[in-house]
Amino acid sequence: MNRAGLIDRLIAICGADAVFHEASDLLVYEYDGSVDDVVETARPIAVTLPSTTEQVAEIVKVARALGVPVTPRGAGTGLSGGAVAHDSGIVIALTKMDRVLEISREDRTALVEPGVINLELSETTIPLGMFFAPDPSSQRACTIGGNVAENSGGPHCLKYGVTTNHVLGLEVVLPDGRIAWVGGQPAGAPGYDLTAAIVGSEGMLGIVTKALVRLTPNPESVMVQLAAFPDMGSASQAVSSIIAAGILPASLEMMDNLCIQAVEPAFHAGYPMDAGAVLLVEIDGLRESVLETGAEIEAICLTCGATEVREALEQGERDRLWKGRKMVLAAMGRLSPNYYLHDTVVPRSKLPETVARMDEISRDFKLEIANVFHAGDGNLHPLMLFDRRKPGDVERVLEAGKAIIEHCVAVGGSLSGEHGIGTEKRDYMTLVYTADDLAAMAGLKNAFDPVGDFNPGKIFPSGYMCGEVRALRMQALAQKHGIHAF
Ligand SMILES: Cc1cc2nc3c(=O)[nH]c(=O)nc-3n(C[C@H](O)[C@H](O)[C@H](O)COP(=O)(O)OP(=O)(O)OC[C@H]3O[C@@H](n4cnc5c(N)ncnc54)[C@H](O)[C@@H]3O)c2cc1C
Repeated sequence: MNRAGLIDRLIAICGADAVFHEASDLLVYEYDGSVDDVVETARPIAVTLPSTTEQVAEIVKVARALGVPVTPRGAGTGLSGGAVAHDSGIVIALTKMDRVLEISREDRTALVEPGVINLELSETTIPLGMFFAPDPSSQRACTIGGNVAENSGGPHCLKYGVTTNHVLGLEVVLPDGRIAWVGGQPAGAPGYDLTAAIVGSEGMLGIVTKALVRLTPNPESVMVQLAAFPDMGSASQAVSSIIAAGILPASLEMMDNLCIQAVEPAFHAGYPMDAGAVLLVEIDGLRESVLETGAEIEAICLTCGATEVREALEQGERDRLWKGRKMVLAAMGRLSPNYYLHDTVVPRSKLPETVARMDEISRDFKLEIANVFHAGDGNLHPLMLFDRRKPGDVERVLEAGKAIIEHCVAVGGSLSGEHGIGTEKRDYMTLVYTADDLAAMAGLKNAFDPVGDFNPGKIFPSGYMCGEVRALRMQALAQKHGIHAF
């Protein structure tokens, strides 16, 4: 079947207004939120916007029958190239499936479609006394389907856990078009935990068409503290000391002076412009214990060299402090025409030496690096500032990024805290996994998708999946012809 025939079949499934195939419509789907100097971009043949699970399943069946690769997509805010299409494939964008289907106060759960925007879910449930705890900084735009596929984190995941801790069950369209439920209520379903396998699988094992998620009770009381430090070293020390004291804040975020320079003039969050670093600490719980813990944190920060510790008990001030943190990336354009945001993770105890290494890398590669961290989790977001029009800038950024990853892995950390691997980091996977580790992972992928056309090219280092798929195909052929494969 030719391209026109495929588009006709897709239109027959979801209607002409839900299939994009003109070049001008497809342009935005060549990208996600990542830097196109770093990840591959490609223009799909078509983008479909189904409204029902059945339509998703029909599209997948057509694609499978014709050997057309499929890439699921949410809001496209991903930062590792996961939602970028294959150039001979189609995109299934889930943004029209955006209904909250059920909310149970008794079970504290919500059943949602994948295109529900993260923040909108909490805005719907907060008046009922509950919220959806995973809160990526992109939560005004990103979808629950994308959160599930990337196992997303966010400031509040320090205390409450990342997305996988809040997903009870999923409806999934499998790569051959069948519709299956994994997990569900009550927790502890017998058999393999396929929910956990699908969370974080970056759209390579199936398309999430419904998610049953856990909701968390609204805390009685919340306090946000802003602690200013002369430098990143003393702020990192305060992070380690807070955790070592047995305190578990709801979130513990760090920003360096470059971030403050970008964000404060833009959003007037109330960060001191002369601070070397600030910590944003949120504590929640019963009012008395929040006040007590707040006093303890203040004392620790002052002991570690804080020049100021301020408490925001009133909602407006809390919102301003958080807005500053969540808009750091948006504000970076004030400092530099381009930036490349990395996402790595180190053991919390290695934060001070990692901060020092980041300074060295900045000097060695003559690059300004702004640092914003989910510090409580040891999750770093170094932002390398560059100008892609200047010869050599992109290459230096890539080399510096490699040095950052190598350091993080060397101190016991990992490649990604929350943004996933996609195409951005797939060639680094061999730094943290042996060939046998990767073969185990590829085995799971092959069990779901033996053809290998579901979001191809992501996570596995180049060539790796092809070998696996070929081996399986040869095994299938051998079985068909009665030849024993060993
Ligand atoms: C400014 C900014 C701040 C960010 N902050 C954070 C942060 O704090 N924490 C964090 O974790 N991330 C963060 N991110 C990254 C990103 O927002 C998250 O990864 C988010 O979960 C992606 O959701 P999305 O809807 O945009 O998914 P997309 O980018 O569209 O897709 C991401 C991946 O999910 C797959 N996918 C999407 N929908 C489905 C589905 N229904 N079924 C199966 N697979 C699917 C895609 O194939 C792709 O592999 C940030 C991004 C930006 C731009």
